[in-house]
Amino acid sequence: MSARSRLGDTVRDVLQTGFRMAPWPTETGLRAVGDPGPGSPVLITGNYDLTVRRVLRALRGVDAWLLVAPSQGINVWCASSGGHLSTHQVVTALKTSGIEERVWHRRAILPQLAATGVLARDVSRRCGWKLRFGPVYAEDLPAYLANDGVKTDAMRHVHFGVRERLEMAAAWATPTALVLGGLAALSRPAWCPPVVVMTALMATAVFLVYDRLPEPRRLVLGAAGITVALAAVLSAGGGPGALMAAGVVPALLTALLTFDYTGSTPVEGGSHFEERHWQIALDVDRCKGVYNCWAVCPEACFEKREELRVVELAHDDRCIRCGACVVQCPVDALAFEDESGQRIEPDQIRRFKLNLLGQRRVSPEG
Ligand code: SF4
Ligand code: SF4
Repeated sequence: MSARSRLGDTVRDVLQTGFRMAPWPTETGLRAVGDPGPGSPVLITGNYDLTVRRVLRALRGVDAWLLVAPSQGINVWCASSGGHLSTHQVVTALKTSGIEERVWHRRAILPQLAATGVLARDVSRRCGWKLRFGPVYAEDLPAYLANDGVKTDAMRHVHFGVRERLEMAAAWATPTALVLGGLAALSRPAWCPPVVVMTALMATAVFLVYDRLPEPRRLVLGAAGITVALAAVLSAGGGPGALMAAGVVPALLTALLTFDYTGSTPVEGGSHFEERHWQIALDVDRCKGVYNCWAVCPEACFEKREELRVVELAHDDRCIRCGACVVQCPVDALAFEDESGQRIEPDQIRRFKLNLLGQRRVSPEG
């Protein structure tokens, strides 16, 4: 890669991290990675530009086919949960991309986080391709391929480490700072830099510590932000207007930056669950021990009981209610239940997805 295209790549990384909430579509279709042949592995991903470039970077030195399926320019997890990357898109990509003329086998690997939207057995039924869910992160692909498609525990689990937290902070800070900093620049230009700095600091605080704060955590974070802002204004000798802004802006930032916190992180269930306490429920009498749920759960909630050929929901407290296990269980042994015993059945999740529950059907067969 030339220095110029490396620079272009870095600029796109920065832009796409800062404006991650926006779709960044890239071309769909088949790409040859390295020098693939008819027996090379086939990998599928969505057409989110940042993801495709990360996969291509991770696969340097590997010979493979990369099939980019349409996901409306959205990342794999959000697109799968929202119905934009579903069985239908994957079947269409497999049938129309020309991959069937390039390889002799009919096996493809999807990112694990596509399991909320793509029903592997329906893909097999509709076009004869066998799907496996590979690792969560693209950087694990070479080791996964070298290991004959066996995933280690670390490859199956979503982590929310410092790097991921800072990326989410940047994704929220950039548009928020643009809007609030722009408003400040129009009304009181001198306030623009402190507003931008405060936005960056508050966003970093939200994604580094918010899930570790005691309840009521919005109040705790807002109070801490107001205290710091007031101390800064007082030590700089600011007037009544600046003091008032120091009381208002951190509260506003707390509300904005935590607005969709649950939907922006993999550490909590989606916000659509807040009003009802839906819990993942296992009907152990139905379980046949196929372990699809174990293989696709990003939070390691299940443990295998191989002697009994069943799973145990050993860590349901970790469940973020993504729905992947419910979608992939072939015998509908999993569902969501609330305290009153009311259930969200697997078929309802497969058809409507979770973040649009009851509002939108995904596709006729998707
Ligand atoms: S996918 Fe269903 S049948 Fe298979 S182990 Fe999990 S609960 Fe049991
Ligand atoms: S147990 Fe919870 S976190 Fe794990 S796959 Fe099922 S819904 Fe998702």
